[in-house]
Amino acid sequence: MAQQPLLSLPEFQSVSTGTLVVKEPLNFWGGARVKPKDTKNSEPVYEPATADQECRDEIARAEVANNGKSITEAQVDIDVAWQCIEYYAGIAPTLSGQHIQLPGGSFAYTRREPLGVCVGIGAWNYPFQIAAWKSAPAMACGNAMVFKPSPMTPVTAVMLAEIYKEAGVPDGLFNVVQGGAETGGLLCHHPMVAKVSFTGSVPTGKKVMEMAAKGVKQVTLELGGKSPLIIFKDCELENAIKGALMANFLTQGEVCLKKYLISSPVLCFYRDIARAHRVAANLQAGTCYINNYNVGPVEVPFGGYKMSGFGRENGQVTIEYYSQLKTVVVEMGDVESIF
Ligand code: NAD
Repeated sequence: MAQQPLLSLPEFQSVSTGTLVVKEPLNFWGGARVKPKDTKNSEPVYEPATADQECRDEIARAEVANNGKSITEAQVDIDVAWQCIEYYAGIAPTLSGQHIQLPGGSFAYTRREPLGVCVGIGAWNYPFQIAAWKSAPAMACGNAMVFKPSPMTPVTAVMLAEIYKEAGVPDGLFNVVQGGAETGGLLCHHPMVAKVSFTGSVPTGKKVMEMAAKGVKQVTLELGGKSPLIIFKDCELENAIKGALMANFLTQGEVCLKKYLISSPVLCFYRDIARAHRVAANLQAGTCYINNYNVGPVEVPFGGYKMSGFGRENGQVTIEYYSQLKTVVVEMGDVESIF
């Protein structure tokens, strides 16, 4: 892969709102795991469960200024981000292929390889968390990531970049580029970019997909939704009311906006659990909650159906969205020829 800093390219000259310093430009690191420089500095990435309080609160306070959400919610976002980074740092050394036996002692094997340079484009409602959800699995799979936060919330993704750097992530592996639609468009079109992972609105998601399609690039789309809610007569009413309040008013009601198609997270409140499973199986939605709302452990895949997008974030399955499978077939006998 040719190595050239993105912002040195002529088409980027007019859209940069800052400087992207890439000493070892975007050279994805071939599947190697992040190597911490020393134990102390690696704590934020490798021991997030014990991440120091000062760092968490500093980022949470910046997120409040960045986005306007409450400090309590911002702290939860930072914790969720740490869990995600820890989870994928743990998964990184476990990535493996498959061995397939063939007749005559021959065999094939598969290798899980990185895609290359992945672009992450974030929405304004979860700035730090989205940056972590995209960068952690991308880097665990051996990719580099160029992340563009929303121009409305540019601050905390840069703090994440600083944390990665302190933890020993080599320069050029996680880059933050500031800008709006034009910058996002240039990233999607860029020939060195292998994949775009987008979180945002449905209309922008469609444009991102269209742009990526021109370069036959992989896309993950996490698009809008509006948490439809089904409450059955036999529900535990108090839980149902609490769930409805969380669904509609968490983050001032700006969790997932403006889409009323049943394809985004759906909540069902029941006591008859068999009925709950039956309804969940018949809903065309990528994420369903039974008797709860917004429970998102990092090991559980999250994503939508239909107009809420495709691809998944969190969970082991996300490895498949940030890597590609190579098959190697090994012949152990003579080559048979029909000539
Ligand atoms: P948006 O679509 O306006 O912007 C999202 C990002 O795309 C921003 O970084 C923006 O600068 C960039 N962008 C805008 N035009 C672009 C273009 N032409 N090419 C490339 N990039 C472009 O969305 P928003 O208002 O920032 O975010 C709110 C939306 O995000 C809501 O619809 C919400 O439901 C959705 N959302 C979904 C999830 C999820 O997981 N499904 C999570 C959070 C937010």
